Amino acid sequence: MTISNEWIPIVQVRDASIATKWLGKAIEVRGWVRTRRDSKGGFSFLEINDGSSFGNLQVVAPNALANYESDVLNLSVGSSVIIKGVLKESPGEGQSFEMEATAIQVTGHADPQTYPLQKKRHTFEKLREWAHLRPRTNTFGAVTRVRNRLSYSTHQFFQDEGFFYIHTPIITASDCEGAGQMFRVTTLPLDKLPIKEGKVDSSQDFFGKPAFLTVSGQLEGEVYACAMGKIYTFGPTFRAENSNTTRHLAEFWMIEPEAAFYELPDNMALAERYLKRMIRDCLQDCAEDMEFFDKMIQPGVVETLQLVLDKPFEHMSYTKAVEVLLASGQKFEYPVHWGADLQSEHERYLTETYIKGPVILYDYPAAIKSFYMRINDDQKTVRAMDVLVPGVGEIIGGSQREERLDVLLERMAANGLKEEDYWWYLDLRRFGSVPHAGFGLGLERMVQYVTGMVNIRDVIPFPRTPGNAEF
Ligand code: ATP
Ligand code: MN
Repeated sequence: MTISNEWIPIVQVRDASIATKWLGKAIEVRGWVRTRRDSKGGFSFLEINDGSSFGNLQVVAPNALANYESDVLNLSVGSSVIIKGVLKESPGEGQSFEMEATAIQVTGHADPQTYPLQKKRHTFEKLREWAHLRPRTNTFGAVTRVRNRLSYSTHQFFQDEGFFYIHTPIITASDCEGAGQMFRVTTLPLDKLPIKEGKVDSSQDFFGKPAFLTVSGQLEGEVYACAMGKIYTFGPTFRAENSNTTRHLAEFWMIEPEAAFYELPDNMALAERYLKRMIRDCLQDCAEDMEFFDKMIQPGVVETLQLVLDKPFEHMSYTKAVEVLLASGQKFEYPVHWGADLQSEHERYLTETYIKGPVILYDYPAAIKSFYMRINDDQKTVRAMDVLVPGVGEIIGGSQREERLDVLLERMAANGLKEEDYWWYLDLRRFGSVPHAGFGLGLERMVQYVTGMVNIRDVIPFPRTPGNAEF
């Protein structure tokens, strides 16, 4: 059998509105065997999945096939096949169409004695050890398609809104912000470090100074916003935070829009439109995957997301949130007081119990937020905003940026930051300064939110966490 390039994705074969045109005609599909069932009537049923959709295509393989005994009866879970056949209306339940095979070519067998993904269910922990095979399971196929849809929606949304996609550096030499949680990038020989005056001599390093993997593209994003008007970045982000939680990775993907002439309310509205766009697209275009998450992972998730679309997001100041938490009568592990950073338990109480939906908190104490956030007239709070959602907690962190040079310089001094390290950032305030604002959304947290997947390690193909960089 020669390999033509005219095979049809199973997602199309399973969609009656598309596939009707192939009824009674010869088509070809390619994929992996999910199950095989042999019937006494002289044929076998194969369930084929090619990744293009959650559901499989049922293929009827008659024993008249030349390689029926030698190949078909030996097909096991995980084998790969190229199947030619005729598309028919299915008499069975659960599918409109099935394929009657006229030729089956096996491109690769999978030994049932050694192939790890047998029919029995495996825990997500176990599947993490088989990250190279887990995309072949129902759950990880669905997660992968949803993640893809969210990425696609991201580009569609920002492009529709006139934002330019820009690429900010992954290697950065500004170690100032979040220095404690940055990964060092070096070509210096670690067993023979050049030492000068008791310290590592970084002038001999690749970049002539210390370099790190980026924790955020924001500062560089601001540069482009202050020229292009509206920009967004979408790239990998690295944080060496040693927190083994279900919401933190050492390598994750972040989307960071930044817009000139935006103030905090514009920023909040942008975040709300963006989140709703992604949810709407997922519900619409990943309906079958979402039905699976609703049934098997988080009952009710589809209806909950539907409701989110219908209502404006709640807004609440940090100060009000602290009052609500203090009045809640809840026992929190970390006590709440004005000035304290909110912990995940507090965020989840606010969004899951109190609001029962997404909430945007704003105007946080200056002391717990970054130096670049615009200070309010009360001199105590900054124009920060966090978007919290049920099940996840913080999904977006953002702010209006300080555009006044003198105020920014004061804030940097108070934070012990050196002007010369930020000379280019300060220039944005020296030449044609504008009010501007932006935020960062963690893609993996968004995938968790829409799928209900509990552990962030299960919504990225190859998770990097403390002690784990396999694959
Ligand atoms: P958290 O308090 O949850 O650690 P953060 O305040 O450090 O979050 P930001 O610096 O505001 O987060 O980053 C913006 C967004 O990036 C967050 O809202 C979150 O969605 C995502 N994010 C931050 N850290 C991580 C991480 N380690 N793994 C995955 N996503 C992350
Ligand atoms: Mn963090």
